[in-house]
Amino acid sequence: MSARQIIAGNWKMHKTLREGLDLTQGILEGLRTIPPHRSVLVFPPATLLHPISQRIGDRNLDLGAQDLSWERQGAFTGEISPLQLLDAGCSCVLVGHSERRHVIKESEDRIRLKLKSALENGLRAILCIGETLEEREAGKTGDILTTQLASALETMKEPPNSGFLTVAYEPVWAIGTGKTATPEQAQEAHAAIRSLLIGRWGDPGGEIQILYGGSVKPENAGELLSLEDVDGVLVGGASLEAASFLGIARA
Ligand code: PEP
Repeated sequence: MSARQIIAGNWKMHKTLREGLDLTQGILEGLRTIPPHRSVLVFPPATLLHPISQRIGDRNLDLGAQDLSWERQGAFTGEISPLQLLDAGCSCVLVGHSERRHVIKESEDRIRLKLKSALENGLRAILCIGETLEEREAGKTGDILTTQLASALETMKEPPNSGFLTVAYEPVWAIGTGKTATPEQAQEAHAAIRSLLIGRWGDPGGEIQILYGGSVKPENAGELLSLEDVDGVLVGGASLEAASFLGIARA
């Protein structure tokens, strides 16, 4: 693996401006303690993106948004366009997070449009996929990963430019529940995703980084990050405090 491992923090709908700036400051102060083979990325709520981008300045902390509209502008009340995210200082965006799929009921069609729009407009995208507990228990994990990936990538005939697409394997049953996939479960799912990407795009598909997400903490991050096909982690709850997020980045 040549690219740096990615340590990404999804703040979800947490933090006021003051709290978000304090957390950013804490992460910035800890950056020098993070090994050079890891890069750090945060996804604050939309209202905090611009002030946090200003606070980050030219420091080595990447900034992403949790969602985007597939349109560039227009009459889409409440939506935020990829151009506005770039303007706010983002370089990256999450697409198809499980809370958007399962709580907000975002469809596969919308996820596909959002992914396409992010990449066409120059944002790096982290596409989140993963099975529910019911699907895992029914032995359908492989089918779900295949279907979600194929649907999101359907219109992309060529692999995206290097580094622009990352996939996050996030088993729904492990998100915010305190239950983490075992190393064997994570490695098996990541290897399956890797072979789907190679099957689709050959060697360039094999270069796409695959993150694990689901109750990652400083205590379990080291083992997950040592797995062959785990190229980083996407962290929710434990990214809300600088100490635990930095603990994961150092694990
Ligand atoms: C997430 O929000 O993507 C996530 C994995 O959350 P948590 O770490 O809290 O399970």
